[in-house]
Amino acid sequence: MQTNFTEAQLADPGVRVAEKILRACVHCGFCTATCPTYVLLGDELDSPRGRIYLIKEMLENDHVPSHEVVKHIDRCLSCLSCMTTCPSGVDYMHLVDHARHRIEKTYRRPWLDRMLRSAFDWTLPRPHVLRAMLAAARLVRPFARLAPKALRPTLDLAPKAVPSPSPMDRPQVFPSQGPRRRRVALLTGCAQRALAPEINEATIRLLVRHDCEVVVAEGSGCCGALSHHLGRDALAFARANVLAWMREIEKDGLDAIVVNASGCGTTVKDYSFLFRNDSELAQKSLRISALTRDVSELMSEIGLQAPVNPSGRRVAYHSACSLQHGQRVRGEPKRLLEDAGFLVVEPREAHLCCGSAGTYNLLQPEIAGRLRDRKVANIEATAPEIVAAGNIGCITQIASGTSLPVVHTVELLDWATGGPRPRNLAT
Ligand code: SF4
Ligand code: SF4
Repeated sequence: MQTNFTEAQLADPGVRVAEKILRACVHCGFCTATCPTYVLLGDELDSPRGRIYLIKEMLENDHVPSHEVVKHIDRCLSCLSCMTTCPSGVDYMHLVDHARHRIEKTYRRPWLDRMLRSAFDWTLPRPHVLRAMLAAARLVRPFARLAPKALRPTLDLAPKAVPSPSPMDRPQVFPSQGPRRRRVALLTGCAQRALAPEINEATIRLLVRHDCEVVVAEGSGCCGALSHHLGRDALAFARANVLAWMREIEKDGLDAIVVNASGCGTTVKDYSFLFRNDSELAQKSLRISALTRDVSELMSEIGLQAPVNPSGRRVAYHSACSLQHGQRVRGEPKRLLEDAGFLVVEPREAHLCCGSAGTYNLLQPEIAGRLRDRKVANIEATAPEIVAAGNIGCITQIASGTSLPVVHTVELLDWATGGPRPRNLAT
């Protein structure tokens, strides 16, 4: 694609990167067929190619974006399905990230939208605050119909019971069960700690059982993805994590940084890009990103122990977009589940997003609801007993549309190799 930026515009490193990405797009439109919003809405401006045009116009003309432009960019899920499809290797992720930051800096949203975004940006990365908000949401839920329309999706998605904080999420070291084969740091994260603390607990038990020493590093926490995808500044979160894990590397070395929420994993693997112009953190973040593994990648490297709880249960594996498109991790979780004795089925349209996408289901409930219903219908058509996914956002989203138990892949692996039955599974 031809671009027309001035030298002054290209002096901005963000615009320079965007220009290179724009030039790689050849308008072929292959990406439209696999874009969930285009599939649903059929509007070119809700396709990757259409959005690329809008972003080009916005950046080249230094426009304050119009309501229309913001609407179509906001409707993008950042699912990155288009990146999997694109034959020209267009780096849509960094382009849309840049566009979201530009919008956040220049466009004044309606006050309720501003308030909601600020509330999510502040609440979700802080588990103790989120827990308090979820408890309050439970009390308010019976009166949800009286709440402003924009708040109802948040109330609907709040869990019926708020789990207690897990002591395993505190900074500490869990020794390996047998002789130490690896020393790994676990990103315990933020919203997941409040919504489903059992996922970190299962991860730690599984890794320890497979002779990993697991470190929850002092000072690590939210990866910054939620803020980043809202177009806000995520550098403070990312910086804290890089420095916390570097301290662990200097103390006793680390073989991997393990992430069990794939939305977070995509972001941590991209820290090296985030800090590419930072003289202090560029090298450190390169090292951190290179060490980062989704838990299914690490477990595939280690090899799963023979199951002690063979179940033969039929599991529909939902491939989170951030795992399949963001990190290109596709076969590992399915193979691990099979090794653990489950019968794995993959629903149709596995490449399409479930509508969760960070805060998307809270900010774009109509499209998110349609995507969820489509995903659930495809999952239920495989007649599974259990649904497994590797991302808390997908788990919450899919569970809100089905009576099937939805669990994290790692909970099933833990159960099969000697851990407790996942909380969400009936006997
Ligand atoms: S990231 Fe997903 S929703 Fe956004 S343009 Fe690409 S395929 Fe479409
Ligand atoms: S598939 Fe790639 S090159 Fe073709 S229009 Fe989409 S982003 Fe551009």
